[in-house]
Amino acid sequence: MQTWNKLKEIQPRITDLLMKTLRKDRLAHAYLFEGSKGTGKRVVALHLAKSFFCEQRNDENPCLQCSNCKRIEHGNHPDVHMIEPDGLSIKKQQVEHLQKEFSYRGVESAKKVYIVEHADLMTVGAANSILKFLEEPATETLAILLTEQGSKVLPTIHSRSQHMSFSPLSREKFMDKLVQDGNSSAISSLLASLTTSYDEAAALLEGDWIAQARTVVIQLMEELYTRPTQVLFTLQEKWLPHFKEKSQLSIGLDLILLWLRDLLFTKVGKVDSLSYRDQVDLLQQQVLTSSQDRISQKLSAVLVAKRQLLANVNPQLVMEKLLLNIQEG
Ligand SMILES: [Zn+2]
Repeated sequence: MQTWNKLKEIQPRITDLLMKTLRKDRLAHAYLFEGSKGTGKRVVALHLAKSFFCEQRNDENPCLQCSNCKRIEHGNHPDVHMIEPDGLSIKKQQVEHLQKEFSYRGVESAKKVYIVEHADLMTVGAANSILKFLEEPATETLAILLTEQGSKVLPTIHSRSQHMSFSPLSREKFMDKLVQDGNSSAISSLLASLTTSYDEAAALLEGDWIAQARTVVIQLMEELYTRPTQVLFTLQEKWLPHFKEKSQLSIGLDLILLWLRDLLFTKVGKVDSLSYRDQVDLLQQQVLTSSQDRISQKLSAVLVAKRQLLANVNPQLVMEKLLLNIQEG
């Protein structure tokens, strides 16, 4: 069950503000929640709806037991409306359709909540219809507009709603989320080091790409230290076929960078920060033969390789040179 205190862990500033506002009973009529995917806009909106409707609210906290709380939890509260784009936009008819639906069902109550996903896709007509609801004196309406791109939201919406900016998740929070979504902790910790964007992570997870990439990198890093004669073969047979595009190669180099950074973390005993968290044994072995200075030099070599790649130097040449450099001492 969600609580404000739990939400505080992902969005402390916004949660704090909403809790205070609820305690004082001074909610605005409309909120614009802006933030990238996966920052908790929707869960905060739904919890706010519970606080708004709950019959036994304790300060800011909804009871989570009453029929209002339960119906919101199950997504079937008659006065909580989710509006999503129909095709490429949110149209006036969609909003008006909802209004008609209330009257048919005879569920006209004094309170209503609209949660609009992708509010930046609202047409002027749709925006005006929603804003009109807010002004009806007979009803107490709360509109929660969600967007990943605040700058694209219509100015009328901006000027009539309270803007709340959801911060990107920290690496740790993002990792937890990936694990909750069913990814292994090995993959999650590596992914969260590469990005905290949900879309980017989803793209990397597609077709197991990142898992395979990780395996190739670990194999290469292991061989560099134990079977150096094997390295060029692995580069040819496994690396180049997997990291085909320039953008993929760049991620491949980031993965090597993270390995070297893990060596530094291992050296100073910061194993909690490891990206390759299940490779502690191998990292500890390798760290025995590398000085901190030498690892830093290798890190710089990866950055040079990234630049060369951008300058269109042949990927195979870039990689051969880099691997040779990492191999030495
Ligand atoms: Zn309740």
